[in-house]
Amino acid sequence: AKRLGRRRAQPYLPGLAERLAERQHMIDDLYDAVQHGGFALAFQPVIQLSNGATTGYEALIRWNHRVRGWVAPDVFIPIAEECGLIEEIGRWVIMDACRQLAGWSPHLQVAINISAAQLKSEALLQHLTQAIMVHGIAPERIEVEITETALIDDAARTAAMVRRIRKIGIKVALDDFGTGQSSLAHLRDFQFDRIKIDRSFVVRAGTDRQSMAVLRGTVSIGKELGVLTHAEGVETREQLDLLRDIGCDAAQGYLVGRPIVPYHDPIDSGDLPLP
Ligand code: C2E
Ligand code: CA
Ligand code: CA
Ligand code: CA
Repeated sequence: AKRLGRRRAQPYLPGLAERLAERQHMIDDLYDAVQHGGFALAFQPVIQLSNGATTGYEALIRWNHRVRGWVAPDVFIPIAEECGLIEEIGRWVIMDACRQLAGWSPHLQVAINISAAQLKSEALLQHLTQAIMVHGIAPERIEVEITETALIDDAARTAAMVRRIRKIGIKVALDDFGTGQSSLAHLRDFQFDRIKIDRSFVVRAGTDRQSMAVLRGTVSIGKELGVLTHAEGVETREQLDLLRDIGCDAAQGYLVGRPIVPYHDPIDSGDLPLP
């Protein structure tokens, strides 16, 4: 693993054929991981800003590849979406998140990321209800996170899907708020339980007047709509204090806690989990 990793870090540009072969390898390995296991969920805490209490955790998938070590979701999720594996991977994420949730204190929630392709499929509702039943979980303890880009095409259909998910009692959050197109239109056309304000606004909040204005404005809109506002990527005490001062409801980020894989198979030890 070490040797391969170092070679890949060399500044050379692989040719098209090489890149295609590499990609096909990854697809083959993804198929293998779906069939035989190889994924793990890391959990990152979410706090309520008014009192600092932990209200739940966001589940973030990691792939433990036998050669590459831990692979980040930004690398393999887009590939899984393209080759049609996302539905099966997403199903595992939902099931495993609920399995672990069942062992937590009953006041805690779990947030599950849903990709655009999953949102378009009827199977999503099946997977959610199945996981709820198998693990005997109150639907209100689950929140699915949808990014703005997942809402773009076929808005009528996705809006219907969001309604059906909420009808089961499952919460829906708008992820990466402010980074997509027509962010405000989404707040108008869809009903969410939570707005997750993208990290980019939080990072610049202390120094940048525009980011600060967007933050304040979003918190104010959230209050008006009765939707929780949640700041992502909080890394400093100053950011945390500022967010609390402007009335933001919840926060998440390295300052509060890094994502952690709660169970780490000793056989796979050697590589540290991703942050
Ligand atoms: P996201 O949903 O926006 O998740 C937040 C990302 O920011 C996570 O990266 C998290 O580790 C990272 N992060 C958290 N706090 C901080 C901070 O204070 N500073 C910085 N710089 N980063 C922070 P991660 O785990 O690599 O996930 C990347 C993306 O992959 C996620 O972005 C999400 O879109 C996607 N993803 C993760 N798990 C799943 C999954 O189970 N299913 C699907 N479809 N997508 C997933
Ligand atoms: Ca998320
Ligand atoms: Ca996010
Ligand atoms: Ca993101």
